Amino acid sequence: MKLIIHGGFFSESSTNQETKKAKQDALSEIVVLGHDYLKTHTALETVVYTVALLEDNELFNAGIGSQIQSDGKVRLSASLMDGNTEKFSGVINVEDVKNPIEVAKDLITYDDRVLSGDGAQNFARKNGHEFFNPITAQRQSEYEAKLNQNNNLGTVGCVALDAEGNLAAATSTGGKGFEIPCRVSDSATVAGNYANQHAGISCTGVGEDIVSNATAAKIVTRVTDGFSLKDACDKSFAELKAFDGFAGVIGITSSGEIYHCDSHPYMVWASFDVNLQVFN
Ligand code: ASP
Repeated sequence: MKLIIHGGFFSESSTNQETKKAKQDALSEIVVLGHDYLKTHTALETVVYTVALLEDNELFNAGIGSQIQSDGKVRLSASLMDGNTEKFSGVINVEDVKNPIEVAKDLITYDDRVLSGDGAQNFARKNGHEFFNPITAQRQSEYEAKLNQNNNLGTVGCVALDAEGNLAAATSTGGKGFEIPCRVSDSATVAGNYANQHAGISCTGVGEDIVSNATAAKIVTRVTDGFSLKDACDKSFAELKAFDGFAGVIGITSSGEIYHCDSHPYMVWASFDVNLQVFN
């Protein structure tokens, strides 16, 4: 059983030691809770549980505390992939829900598994997800001061390998901040979140770079074709370098290889393997 989570990036301009420490403390608590949960639940159930905990922590740019788009609205995107069934589900730019990852979880049993905007919100309401405004006072004042242009990234993600050997990945984001309304993030696409029976990957960084590189799906495919996770990540990140892409990933393989890497060393992450590790 293994679990790895990330709390997104810190850009150089916004690095603040106190916030970084608070994020690391939160990650170390959440990774322990997630690992305990994994003892009695599947990888799929665990990644949803763990990402919901991250969404509920306003330090991170997912769920409550998400970045505000340029029109003053928060739109959330989240996705989930079950490595065992290879089913992917997600919501793109959904408004006024507390835990978009739980809406994505509800969608995984449907034929239509990725919904956007109003359709995602209608589905959420029909499935018991009540109105919730994720805007915090902090994000509102950042928005008003127009301070958050492309900094303070802090998407969340989780990859788990359960006792049965099944993998799952989940990712949730409030986006880049100040983006054109309804801009689509990588986080609810197979570039940002992917898993099969061989590996699971969750990404953070600049969504456009991650989509151009097809990062998560590419790394998982390479592992499926025989690469180690480290080699698959290194090769994919070398390709990202060609256009100075900004990304970070966490991943686990079915053989238990656990790995993280980033193009710029600011991603905060934590893993629970044999011991707890928290780093950025
Ligand atoms: N990847 C997210 C996006 O582009 C942002 C992030 O990871 O912080 O929307």
